[in-house]
Amino acid sequence: MGDATGVAEVMLGLPGFQVLEAVEAGAELVLTVETVPTAIVCPGCGGAAVSHDRAPVEYRDLPCFGRPVRLVWRKRRHRCPHGHCDLGTWTETRDELATRCLLTRRAAVECCVQVGVNARPVSQMARELGVAWHTVMDAVAEIGEPLVDDPRRVGDVSMLGIDETTWLSATRQHRTRYATSLVDLAARVVIDVIPGNASADVQGWLEAQPAAWCHRVAVVATDLAESYRHALGERLAHAIRVADPFHVVRVGNRCLDQVRRRVQNTTLGHRGRKADPLYRARKLMVKGAERLDEPGLDRMLLQLRIGDPEDEVLGAWLAKESVRDIYLTDNPADAEILIDKAIQGCRTDVVPEIRSLGRTLARWRTEILAHHLTGASNGPTEALNLLIKKVKRAGHGFRNFHNYRLRILLHAGGVAWTSLKPPTPSLRAHRPR
Ligand SMILES: [Zn+2]
Repeated sequence: MGDATGVAEVMLGLPGFQVLEAVEAGAELVLTVETVPTAIVCPGCGGAAVSHDRAPVEYRDLPCFGRPVRLVWRKRRHRCPHGHCDLGTWTETRDELATRCLLTRRAAVECCVQVGVNARPVSQMARELGVAWHTVMDAVAEIGEPLVDDPRRVGDVSMLGIDETTWLSATRQHRTRYATSLVDLAARVVIDVIPGNASADVQGWLEAQPAAWCHRVAVVATDLAESYRHALGERLAHAIRVADPFHVVRVGNRCLDQVRRRVQNTTLGHRGRKADPLYRARKLMVKGAERLDEPGLDRMLLQLRIGDPEDEVLGAWLAKESVRDIYLTDNPADAEILIDKAIQGCRTDVVPEIRSLGRTLARWRTEILAHHLTGASNGPTEALNLLIKKVKRAGHGFRNFHNYRLRILLHAGGVAWTSLKPPTPSLRAHRPR
């Protein structure tokens, strides 16, 4: 072994391989490698085998100093010379360089880590490595699926969150398609993602889980969807049901939005524009009242005085605030007083949207108050929804639900990444004085 190829082997870092040649080809670095020769025994008869020929197979490896690397592996083929043995010839194999994959094992792992942990777009990884989109996606699936399927990923869950997310936005061809995510609220991980948001979808998932697992779920938090409430029926009848505070507050915000849009349209005859008073008050109204300073509040009320002649938007804003008030206290008895005030206020209002909000609150009163009794927090669902959004942005709209689920679970599903890669020691720079 010459010195130069010795250096190349150290940099290659694939034990059992030797570098025959390293050349530059355009922007690429091309390394021709083969396995270190050893005595080969015929797997058929156990006799000594002989070398037959070599077949070059190409792999894409991790970039080296910013350049894409192509490995040309001259794969040895062996032959059994013994006449009584009918094995003939066979080709050597190595785990680091899989037969079906165009990527070296470590390049495939890197693809999975980048797409999974960092939610990087598959197309970006494909460009970086100089391979096709599906080559990277195949590698993500090959490395990632066992991690996601690992039964140790999801242990016992005491607080389960069930939440609707949008999978595909509506197009000319189809309506909005929804998915349901199932979340471990204590561990803050996404357990699973299933297509659909109907009662039967969730029921089917629950039925697929072991009865003992379902039994250990003590609290279930959902948004204010009757379909989810209905789905909990048999399998989770024992669990305390909580209406997720994040979604309760959102129902209040939605009511405000509806009233603002309607009043905007009836008073001005068009959708909100920059200079319209209701449009200008929009951001201030969505903010929590306690986060508005006095000038902010004055500005908002002034815009409402101009753009809201019947005080309908003002009413919706107050109703929204009355919903938020429920969560200003941790005390269950106080919360009960606050929700009843909110319900009563909404139900006696003349604005239909506000009355409807009151009916929703009344229907979910027990579940809303259960939050204060159990302390099931709204943080996890909200944070995990942001992670899901990040994956969706990287995917530019998923067509394939299987890939969508895989990438969400890799990013937010509590996968044990340490099983894939030993940690890299970090370099520390001297601190400037
Ligand atoms: Zn043989």
